[in-house]
Amino acid sequence: MLKLEKIKKTYVTGDFVQDALKDLSLEFRENEFVAILGPSGSGKTTLLNIIGGLDRYNSGNLIINGKETKNFKNEDWDAYRNNCIGFVFQNYNLIPHISILSNVEMGMTLSGVSVKERREKSLEVLERVGLKDHVHKKPNQLSGGQMQRVAIARALANDPDIILADEPTGALDSKTSIQILDLIKEIAKDKLVVMVTHNAELANKYASRVVELKDGMLIKDSNPVKESKENSKYEIVKTAMSFLTALSLSFNNIITKKGRTLLTSFASSIGIIGIALILSLSNGFDKQIDKFEAETISSLPIIISQNSLDLDIDTMRDMHDNYQTGDNKFPSDKEIYPYESYYEEIVHKNIFTEEYIDYIKDIDKTLLTGVSNIRMINLNLFRKGEEVYPVVLDQTSLQSLPKQVDESKESYLSRNFDLLEGSLPENKEDIIVIVNPFNQLNNRVLEALGFDFEVDKIDFKDIIGKEIKLVTNNNYYKKVGNIYTINTNLDEVYNKKGNITLRVSGIVRMKEDVNFAILNEGIAYEEELIEHFIENAKESNIVKAQVKANYNILSGQKFQSEEEKMYLLSALGGSSIPAMINLYPNNFDSKEEIIKYLDKYNDNVIDEEKVIYTDLSSTMSALSGNIMDAITIVLIAFSSIALVVSSIMIGVITYISVLERTKEIGILISLGARKKDIARVFNAETFIIGLTSGILGIVIATILIFPMNTIIENLSGLPNVAVLNPIHALILVIISLTLTVIGGYIPAIIASKKDPVEALRTE
Ligand code: ADP
Ligand code: MG
Repeated sequence: MLKLEKIKKTYVTGDFVQDALKDLSLEFRENEFVAILGPSGSGKTTLLNIIGGLDRYNSGNLIINGKETKNFKNEDWDAYRNNCIGFVFQNYNLIPHISILSNVEMGMTLSGVSVKERREKSLEVLERVGLKDHVHKKPNQLSGGQMQRVAIARALANDPDIILADEPTGALDSKTSIQILDLIKEIAKDKLVVMVTHNAELANKYASRVVELKDGMLIKDSNPVKESKENSKYEIVKTAMSFLTALSLSFNNIITKKGRTLLTSFASSIGIIGIALILSLSNGFDKQIDKFEAETISSLPIIISQNSLDLDIDTMRDMHDNYQTGDNKFPSDKEIYPYESYYEEIVHKNIFTEEYIDYIKDIDKTLLTGVSNIRMINLNLFRKGEEVYPVVLDQTSLQSLPKQVDESKESYLSRNFDLLEGSLPENKEDIIVIVNPFNQLNNRVLEALGFDFEVDKIDFKDIIGKEIKLVTNNNYYKKVGNIYTINTNLDEVYNKKGNITLRVSGIVRMKEDVNFAILNEGIAYEEELIEHFIENAKESNIVKAQVKANYNILSGQKFQSEEEKMYLLSALGGSSIPAMINLYPNNFDSKEEIIKYLDKYNDNVIDEEKVIYTDLSSTMSALSGNIMDAITIVLIAFSSIALVVSSIMIGVITYISVLERTKEIGILISLGARKKDIARVFNAETFIIGLTSGILGIVIATILIFPMNTIIENLSGLPNVAVLNPIHALILVIISLTLTVIGGYIPAIIASKKDPVEALRTE
């Protein structure tokens, strides 16, 4: 059934050429016990390894059941070893970190036999060799004789046709040797057993045929085959190890060195920890910024001004670049170089047509908390102290309150300001005093309210009820010839009918948690008041006269431009078109809606008629967002270095593991493992380490987030900033897994390329 024809095996080490087998021809019967004798170095082991497919012959032919092996591929040899051959070695060659049962099962595990079947078969052969009670022990818990029995059981388990034993009793005492030989003889009843020994006495006693080698040549054969008969056809099943088998094999190995695995995993998880912490921080800050936007930035208005700077980030960048276009920076020559200003490009004249004002009025009211119309209007305000004097306050101290558009919503004022005294304005006669966060009011405002600002402090109660009079145009201006002048008899002006008496109804201050409010310290009145004033002013003599005249009705001088006239008309209250409109969005989403609405208007008009608005909040958040992104990327880049270093480390450790497990690799190959399977075992190992380190990294990062949040809260007052996004965690575990598997790939390939004969020789 097995026939060697002129087998030649030559070992070349450097310049030295060793012929281990010299054209050896030998044939075996299907069923006999052959002992191979010969002095050390005569080529016995080489012969066995060639028969077993562990080693390749240089020339000649090996014929198995009529099948030539000359053109065998690696996988054919793997399958041959797995199906047809059972090896028994002098030093047992059991895998130390798995149980006796698993050792015996290994050949079947490699060929993908079901768990149930391989368990049954293994227990059967273990019972046959008398080890039924020891199946769950590890190899090092057995005696030498017992270990050799396990090796025999393993060789038998897959029911091969040929058992190859290389000095199976060489490491055993004589009594145990006899027991083992009895067992082998028993096996040889229905198999071909080829046993190498140097004990001629035992060979003659037990074997049915004794073959003697010397210097790689056959010198004696006690019972040579006379006529060969081929009674069965060669047929073998290919082996296939599942990744799950590889995993469990590696898992068992890893369990035996828990400490190292844990340390390795921990070291390689540091990169993951770093990235996870950075991501959770930046994630948290992004969320904080979003919240900030939603709560506070949305209280910043969208500003639509007649003179608008079209300033977005890109334009600002362009402007900046523009400064840098000169040939020389800090030149020493005494010359000035003209260049084109950007101003023309960025300034945009918004024309507020009636149509546009109506368009703004039609904004969905539910989106807004308020609208304020800023007007360049001259309110005729007077106060009576000891005598009547004009109240002169500029736009920053005398402001109109944002108009509440939706009664069901909290007004801008009560949303952003605390009422300190009195009540909020209820009608157009009520005005409100706004103090700054230090409860201060500047002297101009105090003077307007009739206070001596030399004093240290003023009681809230003294301010409530203070009066200012708003005088109509007709009461204030009088016609003199072709022009109008102001009536200098202020007492008379003050007391005329038609004027409105304004009264301070309350004192407010910006809320502590509000970051920014559009109203300054000073006096604020209801929009209704100014609407009333304009209505009245439009009908006033001075405005009517100014509408007709094309000269300045106050000075008699000609206007230089139409704009100048419009400007004066507005100041006199003759125009209801505001200089600036501030829209206060209800929340962040509403702001987006409003912007969409404003953009829609611009889509339908030519460039000159477009109305450009300024969205302060988006400029602010875009900046902060960009900075956060940049910082995050830099930090992640640093941590990634740790990650790459750790995957290299995994490679090194896997390589060490390959060196340590060289013997195991040899054993697996002798049992029919393919190159692929060997690589798989090591890939499985790095897979386990990669997974462990990824999960470990995420767990540690999750734990570290707690103290980190405490520190951030102490520093900034923001609770629970850092939050790890589960998707990020998952991606990080996958990255860790991928990197370690890549790191371990080369060592795994090295492992799979190992020469089994050499691998089995290593101790
Ligand atoms: P035996 O088992 O009969 O003691 P071997 O088959 O192990 O002898 O070796 C036969 C010869 O081939 C010896 O001279 C040995 O030194 C040589 N040899 C065996 N394996 C190798 C090898 N891997 N490299 C070089 N020489 C080898
Ligand atoms: Mg030998």
